[in-house]
Amino acid sequence: MDKKDVKSMTLPQLEAELVEMGLPKFRAGQVYRQLFGKLKTDFHHMSDISVSLANQLSERYYITAPQIASKLVSKIDGTEKYLLALDDGNIIETVLMRYEHGNTVCVSTQVGCRMGCAFCASTKNGFVRGLEPSEILAQIETITREHSDEEGFRVSNIVLMGIGEPLDNYDNVIKFLHLVNDKMGLGIGYRHISLSTCGVVPGIKRLAREELPITLSISLHAPNDAIRDTMMPINHKYKIDELLSACREYQKICGRRISFEYALIDGVNDTPTHALELAKRLKGIMCHVNLIPVNTIREKNFKKSTKNSVNLFTKTLNDSKINATVRRKLGSDIDAACGQLRNDHMKNKV
Ligand code: SF4
Repeated sequence: MDKKDVKSMTLPQLEAELVEMGLPKFRAGQVYRQLFGKLKTDFHHMSDISVSLANQLSERYYITAPQIASKLVSKIDGTEKYLLALDDGNIIETVLMRYEHGNTVCVSTQVGCRMGCAFCASTKNGFVRGLEPSEILAQIETITREHSDEEGFRVSNIVLMGIGEPLDNYDNVIKFLHLVNDKMGLGIGYRHISLSTCGVVPGIKRLAREELPITLSISLHAPNDAIRDTMMPINHKYKIDELLSACREYQKICGRRISFEYALIDGVNDTPTHALELAKRLKGIMCHVNLIPVNTIREKNFKKSTKNSVNLFTKTLNDSKINATVRRKLGSDIDAACGQLRNDHMKNKV
């Protein structure tokens, strides 16, 4: 019998499973608390669980627990970048960022990515597979376990902004959101979770109907289709007008402010004219624009925007009543663009 992934199950699912095994329903609650609250990775290490029950459970289920393949810690701000090895040998990347307002974990949702954004290292080695709900959750749990000696350590915010397009792994991501929010587990509030998409319009519309009070973040990066087409292949399918109309629909249903990510590239999308065009497009959407000065990417001929251009772009947006700030860069001494660390690891393996 193939073992089942117990940590991708909700409590009602686990209850149904255990009842089917002839066990009382309350046992599921005990097991669930040990798995999701106490973060136990072995049925035999769970209190309240007899050896015979632990044996029975081990025969039927496996507990996802990735291994830390490598870890880099920033000496400047304590940012931690992890490479985690999954059960099937695939490698994913996870980052812990230490802000004054709490610890934020940036999780991956897929092994690789098929979206092909020009400025992104995650897409270079192609797409392998979507992560299971348990594998997304395990990234936060691994970091929590790693800091178990640190008094009061808690992950309070999550951003789905690592490797992969979350809305391309829709069902597993939604299940993960429910699991991570569960009070019997990590209990991270939806308002402390941000999901970033490159613009998968049907996924945004579907997400709106879930009515989860999470923050939707859109990787926009361009004020018009001509520029966005050159940077993000998804724009050939869903143009900016269609994308922004989905954002308006999302906001109407969920009432949440939308976050737009905008990577500034010298001479490509960073002039005051571009800023004015962007402001015009975003008019009427309750939003915040996160400006990210990108690092130079030689193969793509992308150069970092000058400080002057960044300031002027920000001022033009703010003067046009669009709330915009430049994102503070964390972990610059362990610098690796999203997906870069994984790529380096894979290169070293071949
Ligand atoms: S930016 Fe996001 S969606 Fe685009 S290729 Fe990278 S991981 Fe995929």
